[in-house]
Amino acid sequence: MLLRGALAALAVAVAALLPRPAAAALKVVTTTEGLAALAREVGGARVDVESLSRGVQDPHFVDANPMLAVKLRNAALLIDVGLELEIGWLPPLVNQSRNPDIQPSGKRRLTAANAIRVLDVPTGPVDRSLGDLHPAGNPHFLADPRRALQVATAIARKLSALDPAGDADYQRNLAAFRGRLEAAMARWQAQLAAVKGRKIFSQHRTMTYFLDWSGIVSAGEIEPRPGVPAPPSHLAELVVRAQRDGVKAVTIEDYYDSKSAEVVARHAGAKLVRIPGDVGGEPGIKTYAQYLDAVVGRIAGALR
Ligand SMILES: [Zn+2]
Repeated sequence: MLLRGALAALAVAVAALLPRPAAAALKVVTTTEGLAALAREVGGARVDVESLSRGVQDPHFVDANPMLAVKLRNAALLIDVGLELEIGWLPPLVNQSRNPDIQPSGKRRLTAANAIRVLDVPTGPVDRSLGDLHPAGNPHFLADPRRALQVATAIARKLSALDPAGDADYQRNLAAFRGRLEAAMARWQAQLAAVKGRKIFSQHRTMTYFLDWSGIVSAGEIEPRPGVPAPPSHLAELVVRAQRDGVKAVTIEDYYDSKSAEVVARHAGAKLVRIPGDVGGEPGIKTYAQYLDAVVGRIAGALR
C-alpha cells in the first residue's frame, strides 16, 4: 500500500512537470526576438512563442539550420519582418517545413512590414550586385515604438482570426501593452527632449525609424550602403563630415565588428555607443520596453 501510494504521488509529480498538451497553446514562430516579444505581449497565456533567430545575431544573416525548419512544421502562425530582411535564410526553411499555410500568402503567415509605413524605399532601380541589403525599403522598423504598436495590433488581429475564442483576451492584452508603451514613450520623449536635432552616425542603416520618431538626425552610416563594408576613403570622409556637422555619437549594434566605427569615433572626437540589436541582444533585455529603454538611454546619454 505504501509503495502504491508513493507511486501515485510520483505520477502526480511527473504529470505536473510534463509540458501542456499542444492544443493548449497556439504555437507562434517569429523570425526575430523583437517580434517574439510583441507576440508574447499580445498572445499572453494563449500562445507559445519561439523565435528562429537570437537577438545577438544580425537578422540579415542567420544560419538556415534545418533544425529551424522542424520548428516551423507545426507552427500555427509564422510572423516575419519582411522587406527581404530574411531573404537569405527564411524561404528555404519555410519550404523544408512542409507547412503550406505559412508560405508568404498562406493564412498562417503574418508579415509585419505590411502593418507599417515603410521608409527608405528606393526611388530608382536597385542594383543588387552592389550588395544593398535594403532593396525593398528599410526593415529595421521595430526601433520605432509607434510602429511596434502597429505591429502588435496586427498580431492581435491575426491571432483573433486564427483563434476566435481568444479574441477578448488578445484585445485586452493589446490594450494593456498599448497603455504601458504609451507611458514609456512619454518617459523616453522626456529623455530625448534635450538632444533633438543632434546628429549621429550609425554603423548600418538600422536607425531610420528610431530617428523618425526621436527627432535625432542621421549624418550618415559607417557602411556606404547597407551591408557593404566601408573603404578607408569613406571613413576619412565621415571624419571630415563629423567635425564639420558636429556629430557626437556613432551607434553600433552589439553584433557588428566595431573596428571601422571605432576609427571614425576616435578621429572625430565622437562617442561610440553600443546598443542592443533587438530584444535578447544583451543579458537582461527580455521585453520590448527593456530593449528601447537601453537604446534611448544610451543615445540620449551620449548626446547630452
Ligand atoms: Zn539592414
